Amino acid sequence: MLPICGKCHSAIKTRPSSGYLSCSGTCEKRFHFKCVDVPESLQEQLESVPGLNWKCSDCLKKCVSFDSDSLNVFLGKKFEEMVSNLKEVFSDLKTDLIKNAERQTHSWSRNP
Ligand SMILES: [Zn+2]
Ligand SMILES: [Zn+2]
Repeated sequence: MLPICGKCHSAIKTRPSSGYLSCSGTCEKRFHFKCVDVPESLQEQLESVPGLNWKCSDCLKKCVSFDSDSLNVFLGKKFEEMVSNLKEVFSDLKTDLIKNAERQTHSWSRNP
């Protein structure tokens, strides 16, 4: 069965391709280029983009209407996590660097 366009509800021919976009949002619908106002000059470029991350207007609306307060809390937590992870990574790096430096000075003194 041919996929159905989420906008005009007519079939999307995949062969030869009639040009469509797959929504990467939650609806997993497909849309003709012309149904989502993709300019003709962009269509060819879009088709060659691997793993294109495009969302239909419905899914975009869902993103935008996302409660911004809880998003901020979420991002704040993520940021704290990130910073503490980075701190760990850096302290590991520092000890590695010191060890390496020690090793190098040893080998230098042995082989002048
Ligand atoms: Zn359509
Ligand atoms: Zn969608």
